[in-house]
Amino acid sequence: MKILLVFDFDHTVIDDNSDTWIVQCAPEKKLPIELQESYQKGFWTEFMGRVFKYLGDKGIREDEMKRAMTSMPFTPGMVELLNFVRKNRNKFDCIIISDSNSVFIDWVLKAANFHDVFDKVFTNPAAFDNSGHLTVENYHTHSCTRCPKNLCKKVVLVEFLDNQVQQGVNYTRIVYIGDGGNDFCPVTFLKKNDFAMPRKGYSLQKTLSKTPQNRDPVESSVVVWSSGVEIISHLQFLIKE
Ligand SMILES: [Mg+2]
Ligand SMILES: [Zn+2]
Repeated sequence: MKILLVFDFDHTVIDDNSDTWIVQCAPEKKLPIELQESYQKGFWTEFMGRVFKYLGDKGIREDEMKRAMTSMPFTPGMVELLNFVRKNRNKFDCIIISDSNSVFIDWVLKAANFHDVFDKVFTNPAAFDNSGHLTVENYHTHSCTRCPKNLCKKVVLVEFLDNQVQQGVNYTRIVYIGDGGNDFCPVTFLKKNDFAMPRKGYSLQKTLSKTPQNRDPVESSVVVWSSGVEIISHLQFLIKE
């Protein structure tokens, strides 16, 4: 039986937020005020749809966006970690659950040759339409009250695991690697044998370090990281057990 590695993307695999990084393609590298102010909490995908429409209307083409996206830096130690996972394919399955979009993640992984490392990528589906605008849709609908309406990562994780069980695939444990507020919900699903690995100094770590009284209990162990190299050490320890 393998270990399942679950990766967030923005600020975890890459060291920035892809949705804000793309703004450097805009004229003067910024969005008009009225567009900036049009974001409504919980409706990020709709907001990004308007950003992509604006970029398209300004004549920003696919290759320009791709060039910007593939210049985004990887998080320290992440290249080493993904190479380590590739070398140990017999011990790990590996998925991404991200609130970015399929076009951005595809570009980044293919440009860096890491596409083969991940068994599956779960994210908001995106595509260029006939007029050259990038369009993005909500990943799914769900009834989790904690998460933005387009994506509950816990629902995605549970569905993935159910599916795997139906194919006869079980995991010895889950290791969840992330940084953000929307990584908390899936972490509450983890069990005693699992590991939550929040990035040091980011909001997931801050949430997990708060006293447990006012939030859902977290059963899993928590191991904080700053570099992917620290994650390698932890995984080496787990596969030696
Ligand atoms: Mg993130
Ligand atoms: Zn949720």
